[in-house]
Amino acid sequence: MAMSEAALPLAQASPGRRRVSILGATGSVGRSTADLLVRHRDRYEVVALTAHRDADGLAALARELRPRLAVIADPAGYAALHRALSGTGIAVAAGPAAVAEAAARPADWVMAAIVGMAGLAPTMAAIRSGATVAFASKECLVAAGSVMMAAIRRHGATLLPVDSEHNAIFQVFDFARPETVERIILTASGGPFRGASRASLADVTPEQAVAHPNWRMGAKISVDSATMMNKGLEVIEAHHLFAMPPSRIEVVIHPQSIVHSLVAYVDGSVLAQLGSPDMRTPIAHTLAWPDRIATPSPRLDLARIGSLSFEAPDPEQFPALGLCRQAMVAGGGTPAVLNAANEVAVAAFLQRRIGFLDIVALVAATLDRVPAPAPATIEEVVALDREARRVATELIPGAGR
Ligand code: NDP
Repeated sequence: MAMSEAALPLAQASPGRRRVSILGATGSVGRSTADLLVRHRDRYEVVALTAHRDADGLAALARELRPRLAVIADPAGYAALHRALSGTGIAVAAGPAAVAEAAARPADWVMAAIVGMAGLAPTMAAIRSGATVAFASKECLVAAGSVMMAAIRRHGATLLPVDSEHNAIFQVFDFARPETVERIILTASGGPFRGASRASLADVTPEQAVAHPNWRMGAKISVDSATMMNKGLEVIEAHHLFAMPPSRIEVVIHPQSIVHSLVAYVDGSVLAQLGSPDMRTPIAHTLAWPDRIATPSPRLDLARIGSLSFEAPDPEQFPALGLCRQAMVAGGGTPAVLNAANEVAVAAFLQRRIGFLDIVALVAATLDRVPAPAPATIEEVVALDREARRVATELIPGAGR
């Protein structure tokens, strides 16, 4: 994609109280978003909240935020949600189609924070409604790539990056002069196993893998951070969001997670965004954009931190990063296959069906087996995703027995 096509349309925020919805309200990003909405009740009114199975968590959030609608994706949760919200005047619905309908409800701002490809249909529904979408569900953009970016342009939607790295780049990227950007540099904490020998990773447990040193996140992204697949997915995400060729996207390990990412310009200047590792800062940036609102995120005290360090990622220890780069360069449907296989592998690891090192091996084996022509439509993305999941699932030892 040419740099001049960059990327993020700059729509104006509407005046007055903004109508907002949260897709994935009960998750880590969703709850951080809810926390900000409670602190700024005067500025926002809530249209819809959605969850997957956590009916109690969704009901509690709904009682607090008073949306017009609460939707649980798993129909088995409907009765509990309905009971918990009876008498509140909050409408209740269930099922994946109802989640997508909630996403399409008129709103000024929609937080897309459903984990994995389950977020694709609702995120696309929000995009088709022309909303401003605060975008966390990176797996969807990795898989649907240019099909999703074309839909954003076609429907006049605005995508605001929530991922702390992409939000940092968004804050310092000169969209008026994209040709002056030489490269973007994503920082990575290195996760819980930075510096560990590859042999020692063979026996890593799910509990160890989700114990991220700097961030409290959902289980899937925590495992992705431990394998560094997360950073690879983020490189692909940045490629689409900022119309940046693969060769001009770099990754540097920065264990303190204070510098969230950087943009390097042709004159040698490098601009960065810094902050404490607290997702409420990038979420608040998208929520108030182009304005700013206060957050309770811990303030940065650079003198107390003392030093910030940087190192190159070790390709031997973390092969996921290289695999993602290969998938990005191959293009077409390859990133969709990679993402689907990774979702299957991470779920199998969390269920203790495969080991930690098997995650990336399973993704590589799936990539070898699934032909990945470029999808032209969302339906073709979904079909490719389904085929890759089928193959990856069959590759899990003991599958089908
Ligand atoms: P969590 O696992 O904490 O939350 C996921 C949310 O999605 C929950 O509300 C969950 O509902 C809902 N959900 C899960 N499956 C489905 C489904 N099939 N249909 C509808 N809803 C579903 O994830 P995170 O908040 O950590 O991450 C969300 C997204 O944001 C991911 O794509 C992640 O990569 C990205 N992200 C996260 C960051 C973080 O700090 N956590 C940082 C940057 C990006 P329920 O609770 O009922 O299961």
